[in-house]
Amino acid sequence: MARTRPPAAPVPWAELLADPKTRRRYEEKIYRRRADQCWYWLGAVSDSGHGKLRAGSRTDKTSQIVTAHALGFAIVYGVEQLLAADVVRHGCDSPSCLNPAHWLAGTRAQNAGEYAARSRTIGHTLTDERGPAGRARAIRDAIKAALAAGADVEGAIERAVIAGQPGGALQIGLW
Ligand SMILES: [Zn+2]
Repeated sequence: MARTRPPAAPVPWAELLADPKTRRRYEEKIYRRRADQCWYWLGAVSDSGHGKLRAGSRTDKTSQIVTAHALGFAIVYGVEQLLAADVVRHGCDSPSCLNPAHWLAGTRAQNAGEYAARSRTIGHTLTDERGPAGRARAIRDAIKAALAAGADVEGAIERAVIAGQPGGALQIGLW
């Protein structure tokens, strides 16, 4: 089977990570929870549901918008490990999740195969009627609203998750 690579120039990860403000921007936008739960991204979300942020200094020509969990993978495991991976998948199927324990370095074929199998499970994250981006933005907005109001964040997350499920089915799965 033919394989294609993205035509874009390689991201200069090492240079981007050398900017101390990049790591701070990354850390500030993660809503951390228990070690076994999804840690949701509170910043911009792409149409595929992935967190996005600007990496590198604005005065530096290498500055660019990158995928949050790819940057995170480079921070946690190193740039070499990121480059060695074909893709960094989410075992939890929440593309805006920044919990390193939920990331899996793997191949595109694995990613497609697992997605097809899980997307038919009733109540699963992948059956969300809003799609991955709509789901990620709804959860992000619910967390930010709850934080601003001093309300129960976990309750807000649960309601935001259930809101996208057909018939309000409870989410099934490890996360
Ligand atoms: Zn997760």
